[in-house]
Amino acid sequence: MAYKFVDNYRERGARKKLVELLKSRGIEDENVLTAIGKVPRHFFFDETFWNQAYKDIAFPIGDGQTISQPYTVAYQSELLHIKKGDKVLEIGTGSGYQTCILMELGATVFTIERQENIYNRTIQVLPGMGYRPTFYCGDGSKGIAAHAPYDKIIVTAGAPLVPEILLKQLKIGGILVIPVGDEKTQKMVTVIRVSETDYDKIVLDTFRFVPLVGDQAW
Ligand code: SAM
Repeated sequence: MAYKFVDNYRERGARKKLVELLKSRGIEDENVLTAIGKVPRHFFFDETFWNQAYKDIAFPIGDGQTISQPYTVAYQSELLHIKKGDKVLEIGTGSGYQTCILMELGATVFTIERQENIYNRTIQVLPGMGYRPTFYCGDGSKGIAAHAPYDKIIVTAGAPLVPEILLKQLKIGGILVIPVGDEKTQKMVTVIRVSETDYDKIVLDTFRFVPLVGDQAW
């Protein structure tokens, strides 16, 4: 598969245009824009579909799942306010594109995917690109208690509610970003843990995610 890892002027140019497009759509965080400009999104696509890789669209990755829309990835990344060295739990690895963006932002990432086929593919692709998060296969709706507490938690699938168990795995001052709603549309929700027992919740824009399936989910 080594042939896939070619990042030539055409793809680099398309990526620059994508960054400009995301800026025009309201993404302001320069670190996030720089990360989007660095990660070759076409590496997550079959070569036949490279012409789709830098459009601002979600795209099927097999097994009924999608690589998220770049705008969505940038939006969630911006809300996390990643600082270098932050310990981040990502629930729903999928293609691993969001994982790479988090790592470009300086995070140490623990990422969990429940579908074995997708997990097996992504654990090959990311190290091939030079990204080495800690991968898990399983139900992330319960978090990963073994590595808690986290500075940040990001959920990349739509949940029916904010799982209480994830809130308990945040550090004080930590941030959870999670889409919450029904099976069709969800609101992006940010929860900040302000003390041992208190949380601030902010409800933001509407998105459409694949469902979070698991013990604390659908
Ligand atoms: N950000 C990812 C990307 O750009 O490729 C997109 C991830 S996709 C929208 C959501 C992923 O969450 C899917 O791969 C799905 O299998 C996974 N998922 C759903 N429920 C899960 C759960 N309980 N634990 C872990 N992964 C889950």
